[in-house]
Amino acid sequence: MQADCTFCQIVSGELPADLVDEDERTVAFMDISPATLGHVLVVPRRHVSDVMSADAEDWLAVAAMARRMARWVVGAFRAGGVDLVQANSDGSVGNQTVFHLHVHVLPRYHDDQLGSWWSPETADPAEITEAARRLVDYGRNDPESAPPLASTAP
Ligand SMILES: [Zn+2]
Repeated sequence: MQADCTFCQIVSGELPADLVDEDERTVAFMDISPATLGHVLVVPRRHVSDVMSADAEDWLAVAAMARRMARWVVGAFRAGGVDLVQANSDGSVGNQTVFHLHVHVLPRYHDDQLGSWWSPETADPAEITEAARRLVDYGRNDPESAPPLASTAP
């Protein structure tokens, strides 16, 4: 536990939250600033700042709980879709504001205002191929490395 971490405080019961489900490794609770009706957060019990730092067992447990919550929100709220969002940030870019690994389970509705995170434009195929090559080269070098987040553009 990290004493100044809001999500650690929720996991320990020090801070109140609307808990939805929990298991040995994870806790699922309602986001206090819901993007849509039924917005749930899934966190590992153990403090870890981001997905790069998580061990495989915690990450798999979070993924399994997120899948369960996806099923529940679709069923409970009759959502037309559900987005799973997991943000990681060094604090300067990205959308992570609480630095305890979490997955957002976002029910989507036909009239919600969230929009899309994907681009409707198709990129230059050479740029996509180059990005794939860069990833493969990096991954072959050390497939399980956990690099720190960069504060500068690549
Ligand atoms: Zn924490």
